[in-house]
Amino acid sequence: MKCMSCNERTYVVNVIKMAGGLRRQRKCKSCGAGAYSAEVWLRATANGAEPVYTKEEAALIKKKEVDARRANEDRRKNDAS
Ligand SMILES: [Zn+2]
Repeated sequence: MKCMSCNERTYVVNVIKMAGGLRRQRKCKSCGAGAYSAEVWLRATANGAEPVYTKEEAALIKKKEVDARRANEDRRKNDAS
């Protein structure tokens, strides 16, 4: 999974088994940010599977990803010049 703040690769520090799914404690190789990711079962629906996030949350995450990608692209451009 990519880092939420800089979009670089993260590695798994620890895996925690909990009722309802797995949680992976992750750390970013680049900026050192720590976060958890979860692996959970989703109920099947007519559209595929039940949503993990609300529409607002999904939009916010999408925006963050785009911002992080842009920041990375800018950094690469600066490195190349
Ligand atoms: Zn990072």
